[in-house]
Amino acid sequence: MYALIACSGCRMNRIIDLTAETSACPYCGTGIKNETAAVKFQSEDQEEVRQALLSLSGPVPEKKVRKDFDPISTLAYRFDHCADPEVKLMMLAEELTKILGSFSAEDIEEIAPGKSKEIIRILSAECIISETEPGRYRA
Ligand SMILES: [Zn+2]
Repeated sequence: MYALIACSGCRMNRIIDLTAETSACPYCGTGIKNETAAVKFQSEDQEEVRQALLSLSGPVPEKKVRKDFDPISTLAYRFDHCADPEVKLMMLAEELTKILGSFSAEDIEEIAPGKSKEIIRILSAECIISETEPGRYRA
């Protein structure tokens, strides 16, 4: 039998196996006696309990995750705040190559909207990037 509970330490929802006597919270480490847990939902079917947990937690807001962890967003921020236009373009080419392996005009558009053509023209002219296949570039 599985149960959905809220941790008494950190309030995170988690799943416990009621056949075990005790369990520890994977988030904060608080240990509990399973029989004393405030069960929100229980079922023989672990998948059912997992679904209940998911419906409680809701989907992870994708926007936020992207903003915090997306290397492209981080690069866009650095690009915006770099004063030297040449350093800026070289950084863009090198970082995009590091993150993506090779990149397209579309990838540049995400960082410098409306400027990809100009940027690719300059970077190609200065031999900072080369076209590995039609429409794909790398530093
Ligand atoms: Zn906890």
